[in-house]
Amino acid sequence: MRKPLIAGNWKLNGNLVDNQALVASILSGLDEVNADLLLCPPAIYLQQVIELAGGAVLVGAQDAAEQVSGAYTGEVSAQMLADIAVKFVLLGHSERRSLFGDTDTRVANKFTQVVQAGLTPVLCLGESLDERESKQTELVVARQLNAVIGANPEADWSTVVLAYEPVWAIGTGMTASPAQAQEVHQFIRQLLQEKLGAVADKVRILYGGSVKPANAAELFAQTDIDGGLIGGASLQAADFLAIAKSI
Ligand code: PEP
Repeated sequence: MRKPLIAGNWKLNGNLVDNQALVASILSGLDEVNADLLLCPPAIYLQQVIELAGGAVLVGAQDAAEQVSGAYTGEVSAQMLADIAVKFVLLGHSERRSLFGDTDTRVANKFTQVVQAGLTPVLCLGESLDERESKQTELVVARQLNAVIGANPEADWSTVVLAYEPVWAIGTGMTASPAQAQEVHQFIRQLLQEKLGAVADKVRILYGGSVKPANAAELFAQTDIDGGLIGGASLQAADFLAIAKSI
């Protein structure tokens, strides 16, 4: 049995005052939530959100450095995140891949750092619109996942979280249909099974891409969809909670 997980990716949003209000509203609405909740604020606010959350919801970073330490201005290492009690780290988000040069190899290296620091990676995978239209979805997702498995076969994959996020659905209001999403999730689980065996059944695979209260229940009802990675709607407590309650 995989426990559902609903993760909020705040991206480059928030401030001390707004974060406090958002977390307080989320905490006050947890009653009917039957899923783990994970909040991923910008790095500068991780400690604030960890303190506000008080363990009632999980807290994760949006990225981690490829390196352990050294002359890498602006980077934050996985070990530093562990030092302030962060437990999860998003990796390979399509914005990191397309805007900040995160190649498959770099994502695999970051994954290594994250697991070595004892943190849980939330590895994002997904194809662009061009790639979907040219029927390369499976090829792209397999390439992205194989790069990470190949470099990290010894990791404890039972705790790893994957997030299938078709790039064309992120922040666009275009959602994959439940059937389209399930097809790719099933493909990802089969790939995990081929490469890693029975542990595939334990890996939580989230769907991300314009998930809203109105479309969440249908997506989450799919066999291989174990929750969601939510961008825009995670900044409104009511929407985030409504999405969480629909699982
Ligand atoms: C995301 O950024 O991971 C995401 C899924 O964004 P949105 O929900 O806004 O499409």
